[in-house]
Amino acid sequence: MTYAVKECFLTLQGEGMQSGSRAVFLRFAGCNLWSGREEDRATAQCRFCDTEFVGTDGKAGGKFSTPEELASHVERLWDGGEERRLVVITGGEPMLQLDSALVDALHGRSFRIAVETNGTLPATPGIDWICVSPKAGTNVVQRSGDELKLVWPQDGIEPAELEQWDFDHWLVQPMDCDELADSIDAAIRLAMERPKWRLSLQTHKVVGLA
Ligand code: SF4
Repeated sequence: MTYAVKECFLTLQGEGMQSGSRAVFLRFAGCNLWSGREEDRATAQCRFCDTEFVGTDGKAGGKFSTPEELASHVERLWDGGEERRLVVITGGEPMLQLDSALVDALHGRSFRIAVETNGTLPATPGIDWICVSPKAGTNVVQRSGDELKLVWPQDGIEPAELEQWDFDHWLVQPMDCDELADSIDAAIRLAMERPKWRLSLQTHKVVGLA
């Protein structure tokens, strides 16, 4: 298949349990919960997206016709040795494009593969770190993984229900919106009331990384 990549860059993971880790970010184009066009936002299944994922015109983005070609691109951007190689695959929705052939090609270059998914599609086997971020009103089928990252607050999501799912880490992250201060308060409140949850902050925004 041809892979459509919005952008790809070396940075530090800013969120979640692997926060602070050197990683290549691979952002696939396209999402199944929103077209990415502002005129469609009001009717989209996911309405609070702050990510540009349309097209292939971002930094080191483009179309890649084979898994080997894309894995080599990631390896070039890593620009380092074989130790602790990490690629964070996100989107958009990465499960629309991440297939077993690409998993194998990245593993063949010693990368650990982390994904950040909305969970509405099953995760491809072989992924090393699955982070699911559920969106209210959607049917989440991927109910197991390494970390569950709840962007908060969201009407229509009940944390007690999510706690029945099979994850190792439970993170609540304030929604980055015009009412950020209120979101931070709500996230702190949730973590204080339900000890299973830990507060996660978008540290890359604090320190000015992409
Ligand atoms: S699921 Fe993720 S990428 Fe898709 S619209 Fe929502 S926040 Fe954006």
